[in-house]
Amino acid sequence: MTFTPDIEASLKVIVNLLNTEVQIVDMLSSVADLDEFLDSQHFTADRAHNQAELRSIRQLRSQLKSIWTASEEDAVFRVNQILRTANAQPQLIKSPKRGYKLHATTTSSPLYDRFAVNAAMALAEVILAGGLERLRICASTDCKNALLDLSRNRSKLYCDAGNCANREHVRAYRARKASVGK
Ligand SMILES: [Zn+2]
Repeated sequence: MTFTPDIEASLKVIVNLLNTEVQIVDMLSSVADLDEFLDSQHFTADRAHNQAELRSIRQLRSQLKSIWTASEEDAVFRVNQILRTANAQPQLIKSPKRGYKLHATTTSSPLYDRFAVNAAMALAEVILAGGLERLRICASTDCKNALLDLSRNRSKLYCDAGNCANREHVRAYRARKASVGK
């Protein structure tokens, strides 16, 4: 399954947003945290830089997290709900370098609307491609990170953060050794 680079980038931003919460500390607890997160994702938008805006993005994080493990029917309902509440209004906008693109918010829309619509449009593409099972939670026993499996054979089990794949391989290796020793 391949998505356009734009969609793929949007999906990765969602994963990164979801994974701000599963660390030992919530990495989205202050306005400064939000600034840092948006910078790290190269997400540019008009900003209010206040608590209400922070709350709105934390709320979006919960909304998106529920989609990550939702059934298709539920995911469709939630994606549509976000598109409605965030005032998505698709329109073709020409960029000097890349020609026309479909945008559903404008640069002056509030941060929540831009972020939410961007995420919901990307998730809509995943649903249209029948790819919801590619949205998963890391299989490592001590990790709850969200992951996005873009591999050809849908084989990705572990998140990219931390060292989950390695840790699980070591665990499996030790278990094998222990059973051989018995
Ligand atoms: Zn993990």
